[in-house]
Amino acid sequence: MKIAIYSNSGELSKRVSVKLKQRIEQSQRLEIDDLSPDIVISVGGDGTLLSAFHHYIEIIDQVRLVGIHTGHLGFYTDWRDYEVDELINSLENDNGQSETYPLLEITTKYLDGDDTDVVLALNESTIKEISGTLTADVYIKDQKFESFRGDGLCISTPSGSTAYNKSVGGAIINPSLKALQVSEIASINNRVFRTLGSPLIISPDEWVKIIPDIHKKAVLTCDQQVRSGRPIKSIEYKIAEKRVAFAQYRHTHFWQRVNNAFIGVQDDSI
Ligand code: NAP
Repeated sequence: MKIAIYSNSGELSKRVSVKLKQRIEQSQRLEIDDLSPDIVISVGGDGTLLSAFHHYIEIIDQVRLVGIHTGHLGFYTDWRDYEVDELINSLENDNGQSETYPLLEITTKYLDGDDTDVVLALNESTIKEISGTLTADVYIKDQKFESFRGDGLCISTPSGSTAYNKSVGGAIINPSLKALQVSEIASINNRVFRTLGSPLIISPDEWVKIIPDIHKKAVLTCDQQVRSGRPIKSIEYKIAEKRVAFAQYRHTHFWQRVNNAFIGVQDDSI
């Protein structure tokens, strides 16, 4: 089985990567292949796994991801830095077991050309204004839903619901559900501007279209990376057909991760 190692630049992550590489080279069943791997091992945190996802985006439907965390337990990272030998053992006995999560497909059309940009996000996409407030019309399934004015909108996947979405007051969604979520970022609600004011959960057969005010400069992000400085005509969000796969050698209950990350109370009954 071909393995790629994708590490952040922290000292512990680098040490773990060296150990991993040595163990893989000693193994009869495993080999290092950074170009066309079957498994991508991310060493760092959830942010590192997010970078690994985008690094291998062209072949993301052909690989399974594994996360080793060198900080705190994450949402995409199951293995601890001192568990390299256990992980190698699981890789050598791999039988293709995996868990998949939904991805967000973002289709952008521009005012200065007929081309269309299609990208995938693992966590979320945001639309904001360079300066001042964002003004945009929000459509659900081609039907106008509301006119938004405020700092911006965040559209997240279920696995991204614990990231930026949570900070802006969105709900946490179990990634076993196929859904996407639209959360407002500081909307203005008064006699002139009115939005729903609560997060929306969108079903798999629906899509969300956002048409920003053409007189302003909207900025689009995908997993926190700015996509383009071009003037945006419309952005369409839907659940992608492709899903991201994680090699599932062990199972940590999703709500246990949530508890661990945000509450910290250990309760065996969860
Ligand atoms: P980053 O430093 O890579 O990540 C910022 C924090 O978000 C880190 O603590 C990271 O965990 C955590 N994180 C990433 N994905 C997560 C997930 N699915 N669930 C829970 N926590 C998660 O920052 P970045 O490169 O600018 O952005 C990466 C992601 O971080 C974004 O997609 C966004 O969702 C999130 N973020 C959130 C805020 C906020 O809540 N205000 C601000 C910036 C970014 P690790 O420490 O394990 O890497």
